[in-house]
Amino acid sequence: MADNKKKTFRAIIIGGGPVGMYLAHALQETGIDYVLCEKRDAIPPATAFGLFLWPHGLRLLHQVGLIDQTEAISSLLTKITHVGPTGEVVREYSDFGFIQLAHGYPVRMFDRASLSRMLYDTLREPGAHIRTSKQLVDVERRAGGVTAVFADGTREEGSIVIGADGIWSPVRNLMRRDAPEGLFEENPYVAGYRAVFGRAPLPRQGIYSSSSASSASLLEPERQVEFHRDGAMLQLFASRREVHFISYRKLAEPRRERKGFSTDVDATDEAIAPWLDTRIAEDVTFRDLWRTRAAAGGANLDEGMVRMWNWGRMVLVGDAAHKLLPNQGMGANGGFEGAASLVNQLTALLRHEPDPDAAGLRQAFAAYQAERQGVMAAYQRMARDELDGWTRGGGEGGPPLDALRAADGLISPMVACSVRLDAVPFPDERAGFSPWVYKVPAEAARAAGGGAKL
Ligand SMILES: Cc1cc2nc3c(=O)[nH]c(=O)nc-3n(C[C@H](O)[C@H](O)[C@H](O)COP(=O)(O)OP(=O)(O)OC[C@H]3O[C@@H](n4cnc5c(N)ncnc54)[C@H](O)[C@@H]3O)c2cc1C
Repeated sequence: MADNKKKTFRAIIIGGGPVGMYLAHALQETGIDYVLCEKRDAIPPATAFGLFLWPHGLRLLHQVGLIDQTEAISSLLTKITHVGPTGEVVREYSDFGFIQLAHGYPVRMFDRASLSRMLYDTLREPGAHIRTSKQLVDVERRAGGVTAVFADGTREEGSIVIGADGIWSPVRNLMRRDAPEGLFEENPYVAGYRAVFGRAPLPRQGIYSSSSASSASLLEPERQVEFHRDGAMLQLFASRREVHFISYRKLAEPRRERKGFSTDVDATDEAIAPWLDTRIAEDVTFRDLWRTRAAAGGANLDEGMVRMWNWGRMVLVGDAAHKLLPNQGMGANGGFEGAASLVNQLTALLRHEPDPDAAGLRQAFAAYQAERQGVMAAYQRMARDELDGWTRGGGEGGPPLDALRAADGLISPMVACSVRLDAVPFPDERAGFSPWVYKVPAEAARAAGGGAKL
């Protein structure tokens, strides 16, 4: 007997990090059915570190109706101060304020737990779409779809699997298993830096007006302070209540081993030890901040670009596809954009083929990768060049700030060219003096014969 039941396209998202959770909203708003499976037992991470969203990331949250909620849980970043190796302030800029004028949205600082809680709470029927304690162990192919298999023996059936499962992506490993040998590397990423990151309450003595600026009185809300030395850098980001920090240490040799995130860090860590006696505010040293930390963790900062982002009915987004150094704060922003780009391709495909075959999917996945890979490679290189420059203390003179700032001039035009969702109305989109450059919608590109032909 013929199966008359109409098949509905369903995406299985693996991973409930920031990119997976944004993707859930983007699919919801475009009317594509999905289920999101996360291996942790809750969506908000247990240890909450800082995360910045740039105007293009905030714009995407605005488009899915979350700008008020976003503003309620974040604080602004408007200023940046650089302190050289001798403890002197070498530059002060208000570039982040300028960015808001340019693009209509500012740069905002979040703690990850609040961001992911907000992304969860604002989904329609989150309980029906989000599954926790689901560790993916396999993806089985079947006619017209895939079955995701989890460590607890449960299964989810869907049309595609989207790996938003981070730097060590299990979905990527399964793609590698199925693909011709040599197409996927076992570990596509390499680390040139180690970092320790964390957060602590804002020291009361740290709050001063910027008019009294000196390296001893810089810790105030909305300000980022960077301390530079040869081979090392300390970044501090102050909100009204907290200071988020990242300390970087250049590794003697690039490392390819899997030394991922761990909360097992102490003051002897090579990324922390050089900064303990650094004065970060009047009568406050970094040691004081470290002692009062609410959370801290360390990792080798892997970076790189995966050559191929799809295989069969599996496709990668976020850190699973591209890993950037965190100094410019573009990893999650770029992941949001990639998720939007993928959803645009899927929306255009599904409008004509509600139950697409593998060839149709491959074409959509390839068009998504083609749109995003070059941009992310450029962001990746810019972050590495900047960190290499920032950690060149250069003796008395400090890092080559003028050169680095000139190179940063590329960021704003790249932000202006960022992706938004084609199929979601956006009447109240904000704009600044550097207007958004709108891309040809994926559907129109298909109709005009654009995109990959495989
Ligand atoms: C110190 C630091 C600071 C940063 N600051 C910024 C910043 O300011 N701005 C910015 O844009 N980016 C920043 N980044 C980068 C940003 O954190 C990442 O780009 C972002 O977290 C990537 O999100 P993701 O959802 O792709 O992956 P992840 O956040 O890694 O999430 C992956 C999820 O997949 C889950 N998972 C893994 N395996 C499985 C499995 N088998 N089954 C089910 N689930 C699984 C994991 O538990 C996890 O929840 C920073 C990074 C670091 C290290």
